Amino acid sequence: MATEYTRIAVIDKNKCQPKACNYLCHRVCPPVKMGEDAIEVTNRENWTPPVINESLCTGCGICPHKCPFNAITIINTGIKFGDPIHQYGQNSFRVYSLPSAEKGFITGLIGINGSGKTTSINILSGNLVPNLGAYDEKEDIDKVIEYYRGKNIQKNFIEIKEKKLSFAYKIQKVEEIPKVFKKSIKELLENISKDKEYYEKIIKELEIEKLLLKTPTEVSGGELQRIAIAACLLKDAQIYFFDEYTTFLDIKQRFKIAKILREKINENNSIMLIEHDLAILDYISDFVQIMFGRKNAYGQSSNKKTTKKGINEFLEGFLKEENIRIRNYKIEFSSAKYATEKRIETTLAKYPSFKKTLGEFNLEVEEGEIKKGEIIGVLGQNAIGKTTFIKILAGEIKADDKDLDIKLKVSYKPQYIDLNEDITVQELFLKKEINQDIFNSEIRRQLDIDSIIDQEINQLSGGELQKVAIAYTLSRNADIYLIDEPSAFLDVEQRLIVSNVIKSVILKTEKSALVVDHDLLFVDYISDRVLLFQGEASVKGFANKIDKIEASFNKFLKEQNMTFRQDPDTKRPRANKPDSQKDKEQRKDNSYYYTI
Ligand code: SF4
Ligand code: SF4
Repeated sequence: MATEYTRIAVIDKNKCQPKACNYLCHRVCPPVKMGEDAIEVTNRENWTPPVINESLCTGCGICPHKCPFNAITIINTGIKFGDPIHQYGQNSFRVYSLPSAEKGFITGLIGINGSGKTTSINILSGNLVPNLGAYDEKEDIDKVIEYYRGKNIQKNFIEIKEKKLSFAYKIQKVEEIPKVFKKSIKELLENISKDKEYYEKIIKELEIEKLLLKTPTEVSGGELQRIAIAACLLKDAQIYFFDEYTTFLDIKQRFKIAKILREKINENNSIMLIEHDLAILDYISDFVQIMFGRKNAYGQSSNKKTTKKGINEFLEGFLKEENIRIRNYKIEFSSAKYATEKRIETTLAKYPSFKKTLGEFNLEVEEGEIKKGEIIGVLGQNAIGKTTFIKILAGEIKADDKDLDIKLKVSYKPQYIDLNEDITVQELFLKKEINQDIFNSEIRRQLDIDSIIDQEINQLSGGELQKVAIAYTLSRNADIYLIDEPSAFLDVEQRLIVSNVIKSVILKTEKSALVVDHDLLFVDYISDRVLLFQGEASVKGFANKIDKIEASFNKFLKEQNMTFRQDPDTKRPRANKPDSQKDKEQRKDNSYYYTI
């Protein structure tokens, strides 16, 4: 029976194991039992995945529920879609509409991971010719041009066909660069650049001078990110794509690069930016488009919206013009952080002021107290002594001038995750150090670990690995959890879920957590109090007394020479435009971070 709306059936071919289940989905499907080919087994001899016929499937939901490997997603969209713009294959991911870049402006793309943002960029940059849903036919750019007749985006495809459009693309996975580029950074960047003066400026502003003679294998993730950004900026192009440029960068670097991108834009070029750090996205974008849908099943783009409206609608979970609910809950920023304050009473550890010198680097720490059941957000640039501080609290290394006599048991998730083990996710969580009670009650379902439980750790995507690393850190018994950059590779919704999981584990165990992150909204959302590190990277660091969020943010933003106000609707912090009235007023009042 034909449906009024579009039904989407996706089978994850990497998870499907017909040999292990003997096509259980086929055996349990009610229409199949009635003689309808809603699920077909096309090649039993070779155990190829089954095929779900979307027009015959009634959307009963039995097969996704029964599949032992979580390989099936069935979505009753409730909307009648046309053909997809691009579909990767039968029962595969598809995109129904695309965002578009606009000359002279920066367009920010926001949305969940797996909703087609990267596919969209690949299409708009000519790397992928969309098949208009005809996934078994040969690609045909003329059909795409015809399809978009009368729409602005048609010009983009005509120019792609005529090879008149030039692109520069900062890839998401910068860690892939060392695999393909073996020469020096200098050669990499000089080969791209045609403007000596701009080259010098970018090298200086992105602090790449000292890295030039190294190869990509010899630099850190943050350095690799800056090199990839420089390579993109130095290319002479009409459209620049930046796919998650903030990963591994501290706040100072994030805003510095935001300013460089704003300087780059002119009437002859455009920038499209995929970003999950909402403070940055808000600061940098002229417009926002929201990619929504269902992770790894389908995605579509909203209309172009003003930045404020787009981010607010995304947080609300409802797109007004489109009249579409994209989430059944709101993301709110102010209520959660104060709810926890009442329960913080007892002390986990007190430490005196102390000093530590490591080679050329000097760390100075003001006295402080960590309370049980609290989450301390840690703010500060990279290489400023945060890890040294925690190692001293853990008793792993000694302070220079005092014996702290504190030996906190620390469970640590590093910034660069090193879980490169040849085991499955299930095997990791069966290790004896895992507190099964906490893992099963507070973490497993919340972080959707079951959906990847049979996968090998070293086959996980960046976001999946991040969730596994956070789950693993929180599932071990410890006095204090140090979680370094948990937001990396996670979308906004996943960041919220991770925040809530960390909060619930800390609440239940009455332990404490130090959460280092560079996403200001995330730190604001998760923290009870904030520990601010100041100083000069790799030279000297100063750990302030742990203080209230507002006081620490105020000090931090003053140092960054920025002001933040609060959005009245969503309560989210928003960066003020430099020299705007609000910016001037707040500076005058010495209120760099809004007060409530
Ligand atoms: Fe078995 Fe699931 Fe694959 Fe169906 S989709 S054959 S139930 S593993
Ligand atoms: Fe069959 Fe569709 Fe129900 Fe799956 S969801 S069992 S394919 S009718």
